Amino acid sequence: MDTPVRIANPRFNEPPCSRCGLCMGDAWPAEESLRSCVFNTGWLGSHEERLFGRKRNPQDNDELAFGISRRRFNARMRQPVDGAQWGGIITKIAMRAIETGLVEGVVTLHGSMLQPKAALATTIAEVLEGRGNKPVLSPTLMALHTAWRKGLRKLLVVGAPCHVHALRASRADNPRLGEMELHVVGIPCTDNLDASHLRWVLRHISRRPETIECMEFMQDYRVHIKHAGGRTEKIPFFCLPPDVVRPGVFPNSCMSCFDYTNGLADITVGYFGAPFSRDWKTQWMIVRTETGERLFELIRDDVELFPEERRGDAHPSVKASLGLTLEPILRPESLAGRKRMPSIAGNLLCLLSWMKGPRGIEFARYSVHIHALRNYCFVKHHTPDRLETLVPEHIRILANRYGIDC
Ligand SMILES: Cc1cc2nc3c(=O)[nH]c(=O)nc-3n(C[C@H](O)[C@H](O)[C@H](O)COP(=O)(O)OP(=O)(O)OC[C@H]3O[C@@H](n4cnc5c(N)ncnc54)[C@H](O)[C@@H]3O)c2cc1C
Ligand code: SF4
Ligand code: SF4
Repeated sequence: MDTPVRIANPRFNEPPCSRCGLCMGDAWPAEESLRSCVFNTGWLGSHEERLFGRKRNPQDNDELAFGISRRRFNARMRQPVDGAQWGGIITKIAMRAIETGLVEGVVTLHGSMLQPKAALATTIAEVLEGRGNKPVLSPTLMALHTAWRKGLRKLLVVGAPCHVHALRASRADNPRLGEMELHVVGIPCTDNLDASHLRWVLRHISRRPETIECMEFMQDYRVHIKHAGGRTEKIPFFCLPPDVVRPGVFPNSCMSCFDYTNGLADITVGYFGAPFSRDWKTQWMIVRTETGERLFELIRDDVELFPEERRGDAHPSVKASLGLTLEPILRPESLAGRKRMPSIAGNLLCLLSWMKGPRGIEFARYSVHIHALRNYCFVKHHTPDRLETLVPEHIRILANRYGIDC
């Protein structure tokens, strides 16, 4: 079994960097970009107040987990975009934004699943080329430099939360971006990986890693992996090999990340708050700002809308999962004795969790809470000096509510 040295020797003290691309471009000095790096500014900070005129209200359970919004709902594309990750709502928004002249270019990604490249798309064909997930750290914001150099001033940016934070901070700090009209579509994001680590994980979890086309952590408590030829491999979360959660597999950046649902985007497009859809077509949307409303209007006629669904209560499920989730951080040595659960037992547990566990937005809340608490413990345990800068106030409130003392 090949084990990259970086996985075998986690370097927690290395400064976190998600390779968002902001300081990797050359249109302005890297030092200016580094001032806006989310790992230097911390998560949320004053941005929520700047964008919404207030901070999120921690007494409002939905705001605490999902951020400030105008409305949330589920949506299905009437005609899904072929080759998109889900129904292609993001790609459709981007296509319409170009077609209608709302923007001159889209900051997105081209390249392959394991080798993403920042791209400035200015045509429909270039927008379409960006569809589908690149489930690895991706330098999207390098394309912001390209846009600036080319003189484009009306942009749509598609990004993960770390991209969106750096973008918002940069806009507040960098006069060049202050001149730009920015529209921001965010994806929810957690547990992303360095490309070499993703290859290693895929070799550990899949029977046919060489034919994998895309994957998703689904609401039925299984990882669904789509292969070339149409086969879907389903692996219960509970059956993932213990090696995959060992310290150092996920990068410091994603273990120090505190904005899973992309709270600073104008509109967030994901899936995990929607009911499980076997065909990967029901998506979950959070419209946050007036600009987000304008972006949604672009595709209003292309989607069917459904109200959110909610079943059960995330809180007891989070409590029940905390021990196992925090163990690799607090007692990594215990992983040596942890055995991979046989698939019959894992599938049974999935069925039970599916039948009894939280669904709809309670499932999303479960996932947001468990990742936030895990990351809080990671930062507190491994890099306590970064706690003050990185961790926003509502995460401390959440940790208190769960009685976390790590
Ligand atoms: C690492 C990762 C983790 C995710 N985790 C969740 C989750 O836990 N819950 C959830 O609901 N949704 C999650 N998503 C988002 C989800 O998988 C879909 O991307 C989203 O629902 C949009 O689907 P779509 O069909 O509209 O996208 P498409 O129309 O296919 O467009 C996808 C867009 O996403 C952009 N993109 C792809 N990869 C990246 C990347 N690595 N960084 C930044 N931008 C990227 C592309 O540029 C493209 O514009 C995650 C995405 C990624 C990349
Ligand atoms: S996260 Fe982005 S801005 Fe920060 S150091 Fe990495 S590439 Fe640069
Ligand atoms: S998990 Fe957080 S830090 Fe990592 S890529 Fe996603 S948004 Fe960026």
